[in-house]
Amino acid sequence: MTHQVCMDKLQEYYGVKDIVMQEISSFTRHLDENSLNTLWESMKYNVSPSKRIGVNDIWLVCRDKNLPVKKSEPVRLPVFDVNCDVCHYNYRWKQAVAEQDEKNGIYEKCPRCGFPYYETWNEKEYTRDGRDNGADYRALVARWKKSYTAAREKQNG
Ligand SMILES: [Zn+2]
Repeated sequence: MTHQVCMDKLQEYYGVKDIVMQEISSFTRHLDENSLNTLWESMKYNVSPSKRIGVNDIWLVCRDKNLPVKKSEPVRLPVFDVNCDVCHYNYRWKQAVAEQDEKNGIYEKCPRCGFPYYETWNEKEYTRDGRDNGADYRALVARWKKSYTAAREKQNG
């Protein structure tokens, strides 16, 4: 299938927000038609239509299926200064981080507690139109906080 058809299918199936779709489109623009077929089939097979997908979901499928989107390739996604909802650490974040990015101090997950800011990002994108009330996200953050606090207490004796 062509890139446009693949993007339309993903957007329709997962209800992807336009801004997220632009990122996915840019991330997959080098894939040929066979790779795009594989991508679509694997997404449908592995990722539930209720999942709020982002570039990272695409990246994981590409990696599993050896599709030619290399993590070492520069991916033109914006970098944000973010604050971790679990441990309140400030860091620089980007989706689908390349090795070179990590050398430059740009992370995919909080370098302190490991919480993926991707979850926060998706939460913001998807709650904007009232499609989601954020309860799942708050529960997720609460679970992370609990285990992060427990790990710190253990460390501090
Ligand atoms: Zn954190």
